[in-house]
Amino acid sequence: MFQDESGRLANVPSVDTLRKAMRENDFKRVQPFVKSLMDQIGETVRGRLAAAHLSPAEDDVRKYILKEFAKTGKAPSETTIAEAMKLPSIEAAHRLVERLHKADILTKEGAEIVSAYPFSAKQTRHKVAFPDGHEIYALCATDALGIHFMLGENIVVRSRCPECEGEIKIEVKDGKITSCAPEGVVEFVSSGDHCGCTAKTFCPFMNFFCSQEHVEKWREKNPASSKGEMYQLHQVLEHGKHIFGDFLK
Ligand SMILES: [Zn+2]
Repeated sequence: MFQDESGRLANVPSVDTLRKAMRENDFKRVQPFVKSLMDQIGETVRGRLAAAHLSPAEDDVRKYILKEFAKTGKAPSETTIAEAMKLPSIEAAHRLVERLHKADILTKEGAEIVSAYPFSAKQTRHKVAFPDGHEIYALCATDALGIHFMLGENIVVRSRCPECEGEIKIEVKDGKITSCAPEGVVEFVSSGDHCGCTAKTFCPFMNFFCSQEHVEKWREKNPASSKGEMYQLHQVLEHGKHIFGDFLK
């Protein structure tokens, strides 16, 4: 016998009682572990920065690199960093860049910095245009929207759907998405391989798709990357704000 919510005894629990029990169970069982993939990634990016324990002078160099990236689409060379930041030598700039590299705050190829969250010197699927017309590449879909909050500038993001290669255009003004074409754009974050550097492992798998339908089609064709989570655009905007909002502060 079961006692329902009104105290009545019955042979079977009422549907409401069952639902309530299931909800509570789900909540208790799942809640401590349910952290969205995006939250995990955000914590990784922010956590690495915190864990790097940069000195104020080192952090100034990080911010300088990001600001130059935003302006020119490329990272400054070590010589330029040394001059601009009035470092004692190019070797000192090199040591600093290496430190940021080891902390996964930027990535390098040879002597060249090729990415620093949220920017990429190389072409990606996500192009970000500023009001003055200049354009830069973002490492991933979330980074593209995060740039708006990091720089406090209105942006237009042009991306391509991995399923149909159709153009996706998203305008962000004053903290809001003011237009989006096509209308049903979503982000899919593939959970794939979590090891190593986020810029290399996650970013190629965080993309805008035209629609949920195109996410599903793409997942069927790409079984190795089919596990993951889908987000609505307003959620992507929130994630971008959370990760990059104070990145230059
Ligand atoms: Zn598509």
